[in-house]
Amino acid sequence: MPEQANLYQILQANDEFVSNQKYKEYQTDKFPEKRMVILTCMDTRLVELLERAMGISQGQAKIIRVAGAQVHHPFGSAMHSILIAVHMLEADEVVVVAHHDCGMQSVERDVFVDKLIKRGISPKTVSMMEHAGIELDRWLHKFDNVYDSVKDTVSVIKNHPFLAEAGIPVHGLVIDPHTGKLELVVDGYKQTEK
Ligand SMILES: [Zn+2]
Repeated sequence: MPEQANLYQILQANDEFVSNQKYKEYQTDKFPEKRMVILTCMDTRLVELLERAMGISQGQAKIIRVAGAQVHHPFGSAMHSILIAVHMLEADEVVVVAHHDCGMQSVERDVFVDKLIKRGISPKTVSMMEHAGIELDRWLHKFDNVYDSVKDTVSVIKNHPFLAEAGIPVHGLVIDPHTGKLELVVDGYKQTEK
């Protein structure tokens, strides 16, 4: 691998970061100061934009990033992180932030399979998985409408058996990945009013 390969660049940047004590400005503890957990997308345009656009800095929130900002399974890994944040790490509210122009809006089974094959996965492996019961279309969780997707995700989280009775507000927002502009879709404070 060439010296300028990503991994070696990371290790070099890390040497400089640590030896110049750049970590000092990031020191905090594991509990979120604003007592919230954010579920958002892994989109590269949101890497720093999301926190800046939401006025959140180091130490203030738990942030979970998964493709599409969706919770697919009530006992899957995204939900696991949310439950840990709430019950073990003192988060008192959940904020779901999906975004316009999300890659998950165009993830079709056939396109995905083409990409697998281009990467060297054999068609035999693909059909073996499908015969074994993996329904790729369902598993991919493509969504058409970002607002509906946010509402669904909020509902899955809010109604989770390990959250529903705790009265934790769950909010839903959509962010513009170019400007950082947020749109409120679900105001979790109003939803939890009795
Ligand atoms: Zn996305």
